[in-house]
Amino acid sequence: MSSTLPQLIDGEWRQSQSRDTIDVTDPATQAVIARAPKATPEEIEAAVTSARQAFLAWREVPAPERARLMLRYQHLLKEHHDELAEILARETGKTFADAKGDVWRGIEVAEQAANICSLMMGETVENVARDIDTASWIQPLGVCVGITPFNFPAMIPLWMFPLAIACGNTFVLKPSEQDPMTPNRLAELFIEAGAPKGVLQVLHGGREVVDALITHPEVRAISFVGSVAVGQHIYRTGTDHLKRVQAFAGAKNHMVIMPDAPKDQVLSNLVGASCGAAGQRCMAISVAVFVGESKAWIGELAEQMAALRPGYWSDAGAAYGPVISPQAKARVLGLIAQGKAEGAECLVDGSDCTVEGYPGGNWVGPTLFSGVTPQMAIYREEIFGPVLVCIEVETLDEAIALVNASPYGNGTSIFTRSGGAARHYQHAVEVGQVGINVPIPVPLPFFSFTGWKGSFYGDLHAYGKQAVRFYTETKTVTSRWFDDSPVSGPNLTISLK
Ligand code: NAD
Repeated sequence: MSSTLPQLIDGEWRQSQSRDTIDVTDPATQAVIARAPKATPEEIEAAVTSARQAFLAWREVPAPERARLMLRYQHLLKEHHDELAEILARETGKTFADAKGDVWRGIEVAEQAANICSLMMGETVENVARDIDTASWIQPLGVCVGITPFNFPAMIPLWMFPLAIACGNTFVLKPSEQDPMTPNRLAELFIEAGAPKGVLQVLHGGREVVDALITHPEVRAISFVGSVAVGQHIYRTGTDHLKRVQAFAGAKNHMVIMPDAPKDQVLSNLVGASCGAAGQRCMAISVAVFVGESKAWIGELAEQMAALRPGYWSDAGAAYGPVISPQAKARVLGLIAQGKAEGAECLVDGSDCTVEGYPGGNWVGPTLFSGVTPQMAIYREEIFGPVLVCIEVETLDEAIALVNASPYGNGTSIFTRSGGAARHYQHAVEVGQVGINVPIPVPLPFFSFTGWKGSFYGDLHAYGKQAVRFYTETKTVTSRWFDDSPVSGPNLTISLK
């Protein structure tokens, strides 16, 4: 019998009073491996109230001490890297190697949070007017909330709470109900690292819990990562309740292939970036744009994709795992069928995929379409499966026009040997993260994760300096110290003198 996960409220791991739970299943077998409670209104209130109380003390803790907590946490995360990856692989179905990558990309952000003192430096100008100086100080906001998706249950919670807390805030995390075991273990390790009571709270559940959090009067800022429809809802509702919101949403990422690109690199990068994690990455390449003669490589791409074999997380030979749920699988298969019905040519069809020993798994085989047009659903919709669609164009400028017409703007890449083509592309493309011969250009945490257009609602992005700005506000102090000079009379103007 699988157990119901506890929630972290006011420094204690508590069982929810709710009888209403959500099954957490192994996507390769459908076995129920845990249950997530749906937090009750009282539990939500208790978590936010405790976070508010804890904030009053935590904001007074000196920044170097907050940094030391993050150093201890980063050390513990590294020590438990394999254990975290195994929990994550069990609940997401990701291969062990990919699960380790998910944890690692989160550890990198925790590492960056240990650098908080220099990130929170303000600015000063001496003598802004005679004997008057101005300094700006960076101060935390208060209670911040994080709502995270299923596809990176370690990395994305770690995008949020370490930096928010290092800035002096307290944090309420509501992870995805589809894989809440990894976030719970991340929170346990945070407590073990020495996080004071109430600084981090973890609540479980779905829409009702999210809606209560994003409208709660004590919540100052909301970080969200997930699908477009929910991202828009969070952004609209959160800002309507006068909160600061950053909402990272869905994507459709194009890789542009120039005819002068090294073919073997192009093919292996395309296969990995489209099918890795069963295509369930917001930065996955889901559209290959072949410019000119590069379209001659599509046949070889089909051969390489057809050779990929999904499998169980612990099978070291598996290319990727199942998709997260039977509903997700049904949606992907529905879009593949629609692609065929709309006239695209299905060169590799993964709709009928089985894996020996795992008859109940949510398997989808690698799928490749050619002859796709921008009007087709397989081009327009985020499929979130191991499905790559190919579009052919004649020139780089046509490729740029295609990418720029997409409502999304998360990531893109160009493969070429020409510096001129790459420079033109990086400048002209209206996408927030560009790779040049790098298929998935997710920046490391000293930069920020900078999705654009329909892939992001808000102003300040995740991690790096932008996240510090998001989780803080700036106070400017203008000061003058008097000496014994005679008073020159009242200043009746707006100017400082
Ligand atoms: P989702 O939108 O279904 O769920 C995300 C979170 O929102 C979960 O915690 C869920 O409980 C909550 N939620 C779901 N429905 C809700 C509702 N109606 N009201 C309020 N809250 C609700 O997303 P998902 O399926 O877990 O994740 C996949 C999506 O996330 C994809 O679209 C992917 O592109 C996107 N994603 C984007 C980025 C990025 O950086 N842009 C990164 C990772 C994932």
